Amino acid sequence: MKASAVLRERESQIHRKGKEPFSIECNKESLAGAVSQRACVFCGSRVVLYPIADALHLVHGPIGCAVYTWDIRGALSSGPELHRLSFSTDLQEMDVIFGGEKKLYNALIELIDRHSPKAAFVYSTCIVGIIGDDMGAVCNRVSKEKGIPVLPVMSEGFKGNKREGYQAACDAMFKLVGTGDTTAISPHSINILGDFNLAGEIWLIQEYFNKIGIEVVAKITGDGRVDDIRRAHGASLNVVQCSGATMELANMMKRDFGIPSVRVSYFGIEDMADALYDVAEFFKDPVIMDKAKSLVRSEIEKIMPELNRYKAALKGKKAAIYVGGAFKAFSLVKAFRTIGMDVVMVGSQTGTKEDYEELQEITDQGTIIVDDSNPLELSSFLKEKDVDVFVGGVKERPIAYKLGVAFCDHNHERKEMLAGFQGMLNFAKEVYTSVMSPVWKFVPRRTKREFDVGLVERINKGEKP
Ligand code: SF4
Repeated sequence: MKASAVLRERESQIHRKGKEPFSIECNKESLAGAVSQRACVFCGSRVVLYPIADALHLVHGPIGCAVYTWDIRGALSSGPELHRLSFSTDLQEMDVIFGGEKKLYNALIELIDRHSPKAAFVYSTCIVGIIGDDMGAVCNRVSKEKGIPVLPVMSEGFKGNKREGYQAACDAMFKLVGTGDTTAISPHSINILGDFNLAGEIWLIQEYFNKIGIEVVAKITGDGRVDDIRRAHGASLNVVQCSGATMELANMMKRDFGIPSVRVSYFGIEDMADALYDVAEFFKDPVIMDKAKSLVRSEIEKIMPELNRYKAALKGKKAAIYVGGAFKAFSLVKAFRTIGMDVVMVGSQTGTKEDYEELQEITDQGTIIVDDSNPLELSSFLKEKDVDVFVGGVKERPIAYKLGVAFCDHNHERKEMLAGFQGMLNFAKEVYTSVMSPVWKFVPRRTKREFDVGLVERINKGEKP
Protein backbone atom coordinates (compact mmCIF):
# COMPACT_ATOMS: atom_id res chain seq x y z
CA MET A 1 0.00 0.00 0.00
CA LYS A 2 1.20 3.52 -0.71
CA ALA A 3 2.24 5.24 2.52
CA SER A 4 0.14 8.28 1.62
CA ALA A 5 -3.14 6.36 1.93
CA VAL A 6 -2.77 5.69 5.67
CA LEU A 7 -1.94 8.29 8.29
CA ARG A 8 0.86 7.11 10.57
CA GLU A 9 -1.38 7.31 13.67
CA ARG A 10 -3.90 5.02 11.95
CA GLU A 11 -1.51 2.18 11.16
CA SER A 12 -2.21 0.33 14.42
CA GLN A 13 -5.90 0.05 13.43
CA ILE A 14 -5.13 -1.94 10.28
CA HIS A 15 -4.10 -5.58 10.21
CA ARG A 16 -3.12 -7.76 7.28
CA LYS A 17 -3.73 -11.40 8.04
CA GLY A 18 -0.61 -13.53 7.78
CA LYS A 19 1.86 -10.65 7.48
CA GLU A 20 2.36 -10.15 11.18
CA PRO A 21 1.04 -11.64 14.47
CA PHE A 22 -2.52 -10.48 15.12
CA SER A 23 -2.73 -7.07 16.70
CA ILE A 24 -5.20 -4.26 16.16
CA GLU A 25 -6.17 -1.16 18.12
CA CYS A 26 -9.88 -0.30 18.22
CA ASN A 27 -12.75 1.16 20.25
CA LYS A 28 -11.01 4.51 20.58
CA GLU A 29 -11.76 8.06 19.52
CA SER A 30 -11.45 8.71 15.80
CA LEU A 31 -8.28 10.45 14.74
CA ALA A 32 -8.87 14.16 14.23
CA GLY A 33 -8.53 15.05 10.56
CA ALA A 34 -8.80 11.45 9.37
CA VAL A 35 -12.43 12.04 8.17
CA SER A 36 -13.76 8.89 9.78
CA GLN A 37 -16.76 7.08 8.27
CA ARG A 38 -18.26 6.99 11.78
CA ALA A 39 -21.40 8.91 12.71
CA CYS A 40 -21.69 10.94 15.94
CA VAL A 41 -23.11 9.87 19.32
CA PHE A 42 -26.48 11.50 18.57
CA CYS A 43 -26.72 9.67 15.25
CA GLY A 44 -25.95 6.38 17.05
CA SER A 45 -28.94 6.94 19.36
CA ARG A 46 -31.19 8.10 16.58
CA VAL A 47 -30.64 5.01 14.42
CA VAL A 48 -31.45 2.69 17.32
CA LEU A 49 -34.61 4.47 18.53
CA TYR A 50 -35.91 5.72 15.20
CA PRO A 51 -37.97 2.60 14.24
CA ILE A 52 -40.21 2.92 17.35
CA ALA A 53 -43.15 3.94 15.24
CA ASP A 54 -45.68 5.26 17.76
CA ALA A 55 -43.22 7.48 19.63
CA LEU A 56 -42.46 11.12 19.06
CA HIS A 57 -38.80 11.76 18.21
CA LEU A 58 -37.76 15.35 18.95
CA VAL A 59 -34.21 16.51 18.25
CA HIS A 60 -33.24 19.29 20.65
CA GLY A 61 -30.64 21.22 18.71
CA PRO A 62 -29.94 23.09 15.50
CA ILE A 63 -31.93 22.02 12.45
CA GLY A 64 -28.88 20.41 10.80
CA CYS A 65 -28.78 17.53 13.31
CA ALA A 66 -32.42 16.68 12.57
CA VAL A 67 -32.02 16.95 8.82
CA TYR A 68 -28.93 14.75 8.91
CA THR A 69 -30.94 11.96 10.51
CA TRP A 70 -34.35 12.52 8.92
CA ASP A 71 -35.94 9.23 7.86
CA ILE A 72 -32.50 7.72 8.15
CA ARG A 73 -33.54 4.07 8.02
CA GLY A 74 -35.78 2.16 5.66
CA ALA A 75 -37.46 0.80 8.82
CA LEU A 76 -41.02 -0.19 7.98
CA SER A 77 -43.99 -0.06 10.31
CA SER A 78 -47.11 -2.23 10.15
CA GLY A 79 -49.14 0.59 11.76
CA PRO A 80 -48.34 4.15 12.84
CA GLU A 81 -45.62 6.07 11.04
CA LEU A 82 -44.94 8.90 13.45
CA HIS A 83 -41.25 7.89 13.46
CA ARG A 84 -40.87 9.05 9.88
CA LEU A 85 -41.46 12.68 10.82
CA SER A 86 -38.40 14.56 12.02
CA PHE A 87 -39.06 17.20 14.68
CA SER A 88 -36.51 19.71 15.89
CA THR A 89 -36.43 22.63 18.31
CA ASP A 90 -34.34 24.41 15.67
CA LEU A 91 -32.09 26.20 18.19
CA GLN A 92 -30.90 29.61 17.04
CA GLU A 93 -28.24 32.03 18.24
CA MET A 94 -30.49 33.64 20.88
CA ASP A 95 -31.42 30.21 22.28
CA VAL A 96 -27.76 29.34 22.57
CA ILE A 97 -27.19 32.54 24.55
CA PHE A 98 -30.29 32.45 26.77
CA GLY A 99 -30.97 28.69 26.84
CA GLY A 100 -33.39 26.48 24.92
CA GLU A 101 -35.45 24.94 27.72
CA LYS A 102 -38.56 27.07 27.12
CA LYS A 103 -38.47 26.29 23.43
CA LEU A 104 -38.14 22.59 24.21
CA TYR A 105 -41.08 22.68 26.62
CA ASN A 106 -43.31 24.49 24.11
CA ALA A 107 -42.31 22.14 21.28
CA LEU A 108 -43.08 19.05 23.36
CA ILE A 109 -46.48 20.33 24.48
CA GLU A 110 -47.47 21.30 20.95
CA LEU A 111 -46.27 18.04 19.37
CA ILE A 112 -47.83 15.78 22.00
CA ASP A 113 -51.17 17.59 21.65
CA ARG A 114 -51.00 17.32 17.90
CA HIS A 115 -49.81 13.71 17.48
CA SER A 116 -50.86 11.88 20.70
CA PRO A 117 -47.73 9.68 20.83
CA LYS A 118 -47.34 6.77 23.25
CA ALA A 119 -44.02 8.23 24.44
CA ALA A 120 -41.54 10.90 23.42
CA PHE A 121 -37.77 10.64 22.98
CA VAL A 122 -35.87 13.92 23.23
CA TYR A 123 -32.38 13.81 21.78
CA SER A 124 -29.60 16.00 23.11
CA THR A 125 -27.14 17.33 20.52
CA CYS A 126 -23.70 18.95 20.75
CA ILE A 127 -24.88 22.47 21.41
CA VAL A 128 -27.29 21.38 24.14
CA GLY A 129 -24.38 19.69 25.90
CA ILE A 130 -22.42 22.92 25.65
CA ILE A 131 -25.10 25.34 26.87
CA GLY A 132 -26.25 22.91 29.56
CA ASP A 133 -30.06 22.88 29.13
CA ASP A 134 -31.63 20.71 31.84
CA MET A 135 -33.40 18.35 29.47
CA GLY A 136 -34.23 15.90 32.26
CA ALA A 137 -36.20 18.55 34.19
CA VAL A 138 -38.16 19.64 31.10
CA CYS A 139 -38.94 16.02 30.17
CA ASN A 140 -40.12 15.23 33.72
CA ARG A 141 -42.39 18.26 33.77
CA VAL A 142 -43.97 17.44 30.41
CA SER A 143 -44.32 13.78 31.35
CA LYS A 144 -46.30 14.71 34.47
CA GLU A 145 -48.47 17.20 32.59
CA LYS A 146 -49.24 14.95 29.62
CA GLY A 147 -49.24 11.54 31.31
CA ILE A 148 -46.87 9.79 28.87
CA PRO A 149 -43.20 8.83 29.25
CA VAL A 150 -40.99 11.67 27.97
CA LEU A 151 -37.47 10.32 27.83
CA PRO A 152 -34.27 12.35 27.51
CA VAL A 153 -31.64 10.70 25.31
CA MET A 154 -28.26 11.96 26.49
CA SER A 155 -26.58 11.83 23.11
CA GLU A 156 -24.47 14.98 22.81
CA GLY A 157 -22.64 14.38 19.54
CA PHE A 158 -19.15 15.20 20.77
CA LYS A 159 -19.05 13.06 23.89
CA GLY A 160 -17.61 9.93 22.33
CA ASN A 161 -18.17 7.66 19.35
CA LYS A 162 -21.25 5.98 17.92
CA ARG A 163 -21.12 3.34 20.66
CA GLU A 164 -21.95 5.93 23.33
CA GLY A 165 -25.00 6.73 21.22
CA TYR A 166 -26.14 3.12 21.43
CA GLN A 167 -25.67 3.27 25.19
CA ALA A 168 -27.73 6.49 25.46
CA ALA A 169 -30.52 4.88 23.41
CA CYS A 170 -30.51 1.75 25.60
CA ASP A 171 -30.57 3.88 28.78
CA ALA A 172 -33.64 5.74 27.48
CA MET A 173 -35.48 2.57 26.41
CA PHE A 174 -34.68 0.81 29.66
CA LYS A 175 -36.82 3.38 31.49
CA LEU A 176 -39.83 1.91 29.64
CA VAL A 177 -39.03 -1.75 30.34
CA GLY A 178 -40.84 -3.12 33.38
CA THR A 179 -43.75 -0.67 33.26
CA GLY A 180 -46.23 -2.81 31.28
CA ASP A 181 -48.53 -5.75 32.03
CA THR A 182 -46.97 -9.16 31.40
CA THR A 183 -49.95 -11.43 32.01
CA ALA A 184 -50.76 -13.96 29.26
CA ILE A 185 -47.19 -14.04 27.91
CA SER A 186 -46.19 -17.59 26.92
CA PRO A 187 -43.26 -19.25 28.71
CA HIS A 188 -41.89 -19.87 25.21
CA SER A 189 -41.39 -16.21 24.46
CA ILE A 190 -38.61 -13.92 23.28
CA ASN A 191 -37.81 -10.30 22.54
CA ILE A 192 -36.09 -9.60 19.22
CA LEU A 193 -33.37 -7.00 19.81
CA GLY A 194 -31.15 -5.30 17.26
CA ASP A 195 -33.20 -5.78 14.11
CA PHE A 196 -34.58 -2.59 12.60
CA ASN A 197 -37.08 -4.00 10.09
CA LEU A 198 -35.33 -2.76 6.99
CA ALA A 199 -37.48 -3.74 4.01
CA GLY A 200 -39.73 -5.70 6.41
CA GLU A 201 -37.08 -8.18 7.61
CA ILE A 202 -38.35 -8.43 11.16
CA TRP A 203 -41.71 -9.70 9.91
CA LEU A 204 -39.96 -12.61 8.22
CA ILE A 205 -37.89 -13.38 11.34
CA GLN A 206 -40.96 -13.14 13.55
CA GLU A 207 -42.76 -15.54 11.23
CA TYR A 208 -39.91 -18.08 11.55
CA PHE A 209 -40.09 -17.88 15.35
CA ASN A 210 -43.88 -18.13 15.37
CA LYS A 211 -43.70 -21.18 13.07
CA ILE A 212 -41.52 -23.04 15.57
CA GLY A 213 -43.89 -22.21 18.43
CA ILE A 214 -42.29 -19.13 19.99
CA GLU A 215 -44.09 -15.92 20.89
CA VAL A 216 -42.40 -12.59 20.15
CA VAL A 217 -43.20 -10.09 22.92
CA ALA A 218 -41.31 -6.99 21.80
CA LYS A 219 -39.50 -6.11 18.61
CA ILE A 220 -36.68 -3.77 19.62
CA THR A 221 -36.75 -1.66 17.70
CA GLY A 222 -37.89 -2.66 14.17
CA ASP A 223 -41.65 -2.06 13.77
CA GLY A 224 -41.40 -1.21 17.50
CA ARG A 225 -44.22 -0.13 19.78
CA VAL A 226 -43.89 1.61 23.13
CA ASP A 227 -46.38 -0.69 24.89
CA ASP A 228 -44.48 -3.81 23.71
CA ILE A 229 -41.20 -2.45 25.11
CA ARG A 230 -42.96 -1.73 28.42
CA ARG A 231 -43.84 -5.44 28.77
CA ALA A 232 -40.58 -6.80 27.34
CA HIS A 233 -39.51 -7.96 30.82
CA GLY A 234 -42.18 -10.69 30.56
CA ALA A 235 -40.25 -12.58 27.86
CA SER A 236 -38.08 -15.57 28.74
CA LEU A 237 -35.17 -14.74 26.45
CA ASN A 238 -33.62 -11.79 24.67
CA VAL A 239 -32.43 -12.65 21.16
CA VAL A 240 -29.91 -9.97 20.27
CA GLN A 241 -28.63 -9.27 16.79
CA CYS A 242 -25.59 -7.08 16.16
CA SER A 243 -22.75 -6.65 18.57
CA GLY A 244 -23.24 -3.05 19.61
CA ALA A 245 -26.60 -1.43 19.20
CA THR A 246 -28.85 -3.12 21.77
CA MET A 247 -26.56 -5.47 23.70
CA GLU A 248 -26.45 -3.03 26.59
CA LEU A 249 -30.24 -3.13 26.92
CA ALA A 250 -30.08 -6.94 27.09
CA ASN A 251 -27.38 -6.65 29.78
CA MET A 252 -29.52 -4.29 31.86
CA MET A 253 -32.54 -6.61 31.50
CA LYS A 254 -30.40 -9.52 32.67
CA ARG A 255 -29.20 -7.50 35.66
CA ASP A 256 -32.62 -6.23 36.78
CA PHE A 257 -35.08 -8.86 35.50
CA GLY A 258 -32.87 -11.95 35.20
CA ILE A 259 -33.60 -12.40 31.47
CA PRO A 260 -30.79 -14.26 29.70
CA SER A 261 -29.76 -13.41 26.17
CA VAL A 262 -28.30 -15.08 23.09
CA ARG A 263 -26.45 -13.29 20.32
CA VAL A 264 -27.49 -14.17 16.81
CA SER A 265 -27.37 -12.97 13.25
CA TYR A 266 -30.06 -13.44 10.61
CA PHE A 267 -27.76 -12.93 7.63
CA GLY A 268 -26.64 -15.94 5.63
CA ILE A 269 -27.83 -19.53 5.69
CA GLU A 270 -25.54 -20.73 8.47
CA ASP A 271 -26.22 -17.88 10.86
CA MET A 272 -29.97 -17.85 10.26
CA ALA A 273 -30.14 -21.59 10.95
CA ASP A 274 -27.95 -21.19 14.05
CA ALA A 275 -30.23 -18.41 15.34
CA LEU A 276 -33.24 -20.72 15.20
CA TYR A 277 -31.34 -23.65 16.68
CA ASP A 278 -29.86 -21.55 19.51
CA VAL A 279 -33.28 -20.26 20.51
CA ALA A 280 -34.84 -23.75 20.23
CA GLU A 281 -31.98 -25.15 22.33
CA PHE A 282 -32.64 -22.58 25.06
CA PHE A 283 -36.23 -23.77 25.58
CA LYS A 284 -35.13 -27.43 25.81
CA ASP A 285 -38.34 -28.53 24.12
CA PRO A 286 -37.88 -31.30 21.54
CA VAL A 287 -41.01 -30.20 19.67
CA ILE A 288 -39.58 -26.71 19.12
CA MET A 289 -36.25 -28.17 18.00
CA ASP A 290 -37.92 -30.54 15.54
CA LYS A 291 -39.92 -27.68 14.09
CA ALA A 292 -36.76 -25.57 13.78
CA LYS A 293 -34.96 -28.37 11.94
CA SER A 294 -37.78 -28.95 9.50
CA LEU A 295 -38.17 -25.20 8.85
CA VAL A 296 -34.45 -24.83 8.12
CA ARG A 297 -34.51 -27.86 5.82
CA SER A 298 -37.50 -26.70 3.80
CA GLU A 299 -36.26 -23.10 3.50
CA ILE A 300 -32.81 -24.20 2.31
CA GLU A 301 -34.34 -26.61 -0.21
CA LYS A 302 -36.38 -23.73 -1.62
CA ILE A 303 -33.44 -21.41 -2.29
CA MET A 304 -30.56 -23.74 -3.16
CA PRO A 305 -31.16 -24.30 -6.91
CA GLU A 306 -31.17 -20.56 -7.67
CA LEU A 307 -28.37 -19.86 -5.19
CA ASN A 308 -26.16 -22.42 -6.93
CA ARG A 309 -26.68 -20.67 -10.25
CA TYR A 310 -25.39 -17.40 -8.78
CA LYS A 311 -22.52 -19.24 -7.13
CA ALA A 312 -21.36 -20.72 -10.43
CA ALA A 313 -21.19 -17.24 -11.96
CA LEU A 314 -19.58 -15.49 -8.99
CA LYS A 315 -16.96 -18.11 -8.08
CA GLY A 316 -13.55 -16.54 -7.37
CA LYS A 317 -14.77 -12.91 -7.49
CA LYS A 318 -13.45 -10.64 -4.75
CA ALA A 319 -15.45 -8.75 -2.12
CA ALA A 320 -14.70 -5.98 0.38
CA ILE A 321 -16.88 -5.28 3.42
CA TYR A 322 -17.14 -2.14 5.55
CA VAL A 323 -20.07 -2.00 7.97
CA GLY A 324 -21.13 -0.36 11.25
CA GLY A 325 -20.96 -3.35 13.61
CA ALA A 326 -18.48 -6.20 13.23
CA PHE A 327 -21.13 -8.81 14.00
CA LYS A 328 -22.69 -8.21 10.59
CA ALA A 329 -19.24 -8.57 9.04
CA PHE A 330 -18.93 -12.15 10.41
CA SER A 331 -22.15 -13.11 8.67
CA LEU A 332 -21.16 -11.40 5.45
CA VAL A 333 -17.82 -13.25 5.31
CA LYS A 334 -19.74 -16.53 5.58
CA ALA A 335 -22.43 -15.40 3.13
CA PHE A 336 -19.80 -14.56 0.50
CA ARG A 337 -18.24 -17.96 1.02
CA THR A 338 -21.64 -19.54 0.40
CA ILE A 339 -21.72 -17.92 -3.05
CA GLY A 340 -18.11 -18.82 -3.84
CA MET A 341 -16.57 -15.36 -3.42
CA ASP A 342 -13.37 -14.35 -1.57
CA VAL A 343 -13.42 -11.60 1.04
CA VAL A 344 -10.20 -9.61 0.70
CA MET A 345 -10.98 -6.66 2.99
CA VAL A 346 -13.26 -6.38 5.99
CA GLY A 347 -13.75 -3.59 8.49
CA SER A 348 -16.19 -1.88 10.81
CA GLN A 349 -16.85 1.42 12.55
CA THR A 350 -17.34 0.06 16.05
CA GLY A 351 -15.75 -3.41 16.32
CA THR A 352 -14.12 -4.59 19.55
CA LYS A 353 -10.83 -6.44 19.96
CA GLU A 354 -12.75 -9.74 20.30
CA ASP A 355 -14.69 -8.97 17.11
CA TYR A 356 -11.49 -8.39 15.13
CA GLU A 357 -9.88 -11.50 16.59
CA GLU A 358 -12.83 -13.52 15.35
CA LEU A 359 -12.67 -11.82 11.95
CA GLN A 360 -9.04 -12.72 11.55
CA GLU A 361 -9.84 -16.34 12.44
CA ILE A 362 -12.54 -16.69 9.79
CA THR A 363 -10.85 -14.78 6.95
CA ASP A 364 -8.22 -15.94 4.44
CA GLN A 365 -4.51 -15.08 4.42
CA GLY A 366 -3.80 -11.59 3.15
CA THR A 367 -7.21 -10.18 4.10
CA ILE A 368 -7.06 -6.57 5.26
CA ILE A 369 -8.88 -6.03 8.57
CA VAL A 370 -9.54 -2.38 9.43
CA ASP A 371 -11.13 -0.44 12.28
CA ASP A 372 -12.75 3.03 11.97
CA SER A 373 -11.58 3.64 8.42
CA ASN A 374 -11.95 6.66 6.13
CA PRO A 375 -12.60 7.20 2.41
CA LEU A 376 -8.95 7.55 1.42
CA GLU A 377 -7.93 4.28 3.08
CA LEU A 378 -10.95 2.40 1.79
CA SER A 379 -10.31 3.60 -1.77
CA SER A 380 -6.70 2.47 -1.60
CA PHE A 381 -7.69 -0.98 -0.25
CA LEU A 382 -10.32 -1.43 -2.98
CA LYS A 383 -7.78 -0.55 -5.66
CA GLU A 384 -4.99 -2.62 -4.15
CA LYS A 385 -7.17 -5.72 -3.89
CA ASP A 386 -8.93 -5.03 -7.20
CA VAL A 387 -12.29 -5.99 -5.72
CA ASP A 388 -15.37 -6.88 -7.71
CA VAL A 389 -17.93 -5.72 -5.17
CA PHE A 390 -17.92 -3.47 -2.10
CA VAL A 391 -20.55 -3.94 0.63
CA GLY A 392 -21.33 -1.03 2.93
CA GLY A 393 -23.79 1.77 3.55
CA VAL A 394 -24.70 5.19 2.28
CA LYS A 395 -21.26 6.69 2.97
CA GLU A 396 -19.43 3.86 1.20
CA ARG A 397 -21.54 3.83 -1.96
CA PRO A 398 -19.85 6.86 -3.62
CA ILE A 399 -16.40 5.46 -2.85
CA ALA A 400 -17.23 2.32 -4.83
CA TYR A 401 -18.93 4.08 -7.72
CA LYS A 402 -16.17 6.64 -8.14
CA LEU A 403 -13.70 3.78 -8.48
CA GLY A 404 -15.91 1.87 -10.87
CA VAL A 405 -16.58 -0.96 -8.43
CA ALA A 406 -19.93 -2.74 -7.97
CA PHE A 407 -21.72 -1.94 -4.71
CA CYS A 408 -24.21 -3.71 -2.45
CA ASP A 409 -26.04 -1.66 0.21
CA HIS A 410 -26.27 -3.61 3.46
CA ASN A 411 -27.19 -0.73 5.70
CA HIS A 412 -29.97 1.63 6.84
CA GLU A 413 -31.70 2.72 3.74
CA ARG A 414 -31.83 -0.37 1.56
CA LYS A 415 -35.12 -1.48 0.09
CA GLU A 416 -34.22 -5.15 -0.35
CA MET A 417 -34.74 -7.72 2.41
CA LEU A 418 -31.39 -9.41 3.11
CA ALA A 419 -32.13 -11.30 6.34
CA GLY A 420 -33.39 -14.86 6.63
CA PHE A 421 -33.16 -17.59 4.00
CA GLN A 422 -35.03 -15.58 1.39
CA GLY A 423 -32.74 -12.66 2.24
CA MET A 424 -29.67 -14.77 1.43
CA LEU A 425 -31.08 -15.42 -2.03
CA ASN A 426 -31.86 -11.71 -2.46
CA PHE A 427 -28.30 -10.88 -1.39
CA ALA A 428 -26.80 -13.30 -3.90
CA LYS A 429 -29.03 -11.92 -6.63
CA GLU A 430 -28.11 -8.32 -5.79
CA VAL A 431 -24.37 -9.08 -5.71
CA TYR A 432 -24.67 -11.01 -8.98
CA THR A 433 -26.62 -8.23 -10.70
CA SER A 434 -24.19 -5.56 -9.57
CA VAL A 435 -20.95 -7.48 -10.23
CA MET A 436 -22.05 -8.72 -13.65
CA SER A 437 -23.41 -5.40 -14.84
CA PRO A 438 -21.85 -4.44 -18.20
CA VAL A 439 -21.55 -0.85 -16.98
CA TRP A 440 -18.25 -1.56 -15.20
CA LYS A 441 -16.56 -2.10 -18.56
CA PHE A 442 -17.01 1.56 -19.36
CA VAL A 443 -15.96 3.25 -16.11
CA PRO A 444 -12.44 4.73 -15.86
CA ARG A 445 -10.71 2.16 -13.65
CA ARG A 446 -11.86 -0.86 -15.65
CA THR A 447 -11.13 0.85 -18.93
CA LYS A 448 -7.64 1.64 -17.70
CA ARG A 449 -7.07 -1.86 -16.43
CA GLU A 450 -8.07 -3.41 -19.73
CA PHE A 451 -5.87 -0.92 -21.53
CA ASP A 452 -2.95 -1.77 -19.22
CA VAL A 453 -3.44 -5.48 -19.74
CA GLY A 454 -3.40 -4.91 -23.48
CA LEU A 455 -0.28 -2.83 -23.13
CA VAL A 456 1.57 -5.55 -21.22
CA GLU A 457 0.49 -8.11 -23.79
CA ARG A 458 1.76 -5.98 -26.63
CA ILE A 459 5.09 -5.42 -24.90
CA ASN A 460 5.40 -9.16 -24.28
CA LYS A 461 4.82 -9.79 -27.94
CA GLY A 462 7.53 -7.29 -28.80
CA GLU A 463 5.05 -4.93 -30.41
CA LYS A 464 5.27 -1.19 -30.15
CA PRO A 465 3.27 -0.02 -27.11
S1 SF4 B 1 -25.04 16.21 17.43
FE1 SF4 B 1 -23.18 17.36 16.98
S2 SF4 B 1 -21.90 15.99 15.70
FE2 SF4 B 1 -24.00 15.16 15.75
S3 SF4 B 1 -25.01 16.02 13.92
FE3 SF4 B 1 -25.47 17.42 15.60
S4 SF4 B 1 -23.82 18.97 15.59
FE4 SF4 B 1 -23.13 17.24 14.29
